[in-house]
Amino acid sequence: YAGKNPKGLISEKIRSIKVSEIKAVPVVIREETSVYDAIVTLFLEDVGTLFVVQEDGSLCGVVSRKDLLKIAIGNADIKQVPVSVVMTRMPNLVTVTLDESAYDAARKIVEHQVDALPVIRPKEVDGKQKYEVVGKVTKTTITKLFVELGKD
Ligand code: ADP
Repeated sequence: YAGKNPKGLISEKIRSIKVSEIKAVPVVIREETSVYDAIVTLFLEDVGTLFVVQEDGSLCGVVSRKDLLKIAIGNADIKQVPVSVVMTRMPNLVTVTLDESAYDAARKIVEHQVDALPVIRPKEVDGKQKYEVVGKVTKTTITKLFVELGKD
């Protein structure tokens, strides 16, 4: 039985903690934002990943440090290029919902080799299935949880 040995206890604990309890505040930009402004936002907000939304606030992409570096070291005029050109797009995004567990989120981060997951809530807009960004879970979020669980 899972609860009777230390490993089972850890497993039970991290599966019982919900994304809603650990999520952090996401930094969101519009898809028209220039690569230049996205880089400035990374510094100002002190994050490594930005979530990209459409006018109605629905998630359409994720842009990471390396996505921005890759275009910045080329010859592109990064004040003219929108982030939509370099971001990873829906439906290729790895996401989590509020009711998934901390374990689910950590497993997705490891399996898909990404730093951050948008926390999404489904919503319907004009009969279309869209997703609102309500948080993020990152490697930092999981590390903080790990430290918290190690305390007592
Ligand atoms: P970095 O580029 O800083 O190493 P990541 O490892 O998170 O950051 O990103 C690697 C690649 O994966 C990038 O191209 C990025 O757009 C993409 N990516 C980042 N997060 C996600 C995600 N949640 N779902 C899908 N792709 C992602």
